[in-house]
Amino acid sequence: MRFDPSSWNSFLLILTAWAGAFIAALWLSLIFWAYRDIRQRARDPLARILSILVVAVLFLPGIVIYLILRPPRTLEDEYQHSLEEEALLQAIEDSSLCPGCGRRVRENWVVCPNCHTRTKKTCPQCGHLMELAWSLCPYCATPAPGMHREAQSLDEVLTPAAGEPAAEQPLQDDELALAKHLPEA
Ligand SMILES: [Zn+2]
Ligand SMILES: [Zn+2]
Repeated sequence: MRFDPSSWNSFLLILTAWAGAFIAALWLSLIFWAYRDIRQRARDPLARILSILVVAVLFLPGIVIYLILRPPRTLEDEYQHSLEEEALLQAIEDSSLCPGCGRRVRENWVVCPNCHTRTKKTCPQCGHLMELAWSLCPYCATPAPGMHREAQSLDEVLTPAAGEPAAEQPLQDDELALAKHLPEA
């Protein structure tokens, strides 16, 4: 086999061109990846530009630096986390407040001593306390009697009389629904 320097040179040239194209493609895709990733993690435009710059300028070491410094949670995770925290806080706060007058009531009270609003009901079968919204006792699976009627009478207690202007009505309904459907802490 005869060694041909010109074909060897062209082989090297092709190899270099191929490697160059590969590295350029890698560089571009890393920038694109960092752009997509930082968009999910930061709202601040400066942080976004800096992240992309670090990757664009430093290339592979830049990606390592970016991976170390990027916000650990995505905005979506952050949002879910704050929702969970809010729900938890709300459950803790509202579970001990009377839906009628807002005073503190104990967990095991069935009626508010201040405004006489019903806060819990008892199961006719086993006597356990139940949330007003529950249609079934979770301890003995007995359906709550007159569940619909009871919920309606609670509505009547909390809604203003028919003659009054109903400006506050939707808010009150929301609050009532919230109070009724909150899980027990
Ligand atoms: Zn009350
Ligand atoms: Zn029961």
